[in-house]
Amino acid sequence: MSRIRFSDFERIVFFTGAGMSAESGIPTYRGKGGIWAEYDYEDYACQRAFDRDPERVWDFHDRRRAAVRACEPNDGHRVVTAVQERRPGTLVVTQNIDGMHQRAGAAVTAELHGSLWRVRCDADEIVRDDDTVPMTPRKCSCGGYWRPDIVWFEDSLDHRVVCRAREALEACDLLVSIGTSAVVYPAAELPRIAVQRGAVTVEINLEDTPLSHLYQHRLRGKASDVLAELNR
Ligand code: NAD
Repeated sequence: MSRIRFSDFERIVFFTGAGMSAESGIPTYRGKGGIWAEYDYEDYACQRAFDRDPERVWDFHDRRRAAVRACEPNDGHRVVTAVQERRPGTLVVTQNIDGMHQRAGAAVTAELHGSLWRVRCDADEIVRDDDTVPMTPRKCSCGGYWRPDIVWFEDSLDHRVVCRAREALEACDLLVSIGTSAVVYPAAELPRIAVQRGAVTVEINLEDTPLSHLYQHRLRGKASDVLAELNR
């Protein structure tokens, strides 16, 4: 294990992916049991699918909402929250859409891929929180469907959210990447900013990723175990 300790840093950024929530029982993207092994994204998670059959896409997202609602934040989420409470300069940038950091009490600076718990009406340009399961009603008062405020396949990231993430990474003195396979771009390359700015960098994962070489400290193990160790 490295000699890194959270208590030695003031401006920590936790950069999290699906592996952060794996111990909560939420399947990762690519691993065994990953949702895209079972479902074809072209039918459930792209704008074209939604335009073609919004009811089917909402049925799928309602199942995801119900599955995530049934899970609880894990010890790893709780360490992130505890560090943020102790060191107010700590920021969370996540690729996850599950809202688990917030449920564990953390403030999240950037949800790069949106949230399962927000909906938007593109016609009326309205975005709102919504935690109903199933999501009800599916239609906005304008008559169009609410759409999950998630970055689906083929969508662009919201540039305001990316700006917040970039600012966080430019200013951090410690970057801790947790449970991301580092293959979903452009999110995957954001940690480079912290590397270029000279932050201390840590990657927590069960295995190496294509960007592991960027990190000074490559810690292998379950997120909750490694985080507990760094928080001692
Ligand atoms: P990914 O599924 O591509 O990769 C998950 C990574 O986590 C892998 O590298 C794996 O080795 C690692 N991992 C698995 N269990 C771990 C554990 N207990 N401790 C530490 N590491 C562990 O996920 P990604 O890189 O986040 O990219 C997938 C995309 O799909 C992202 O946009 C992501 O937000 C989205 N997604 C989100 C959720 C969620 O919100 N919980 C779930 C699945 C996918």
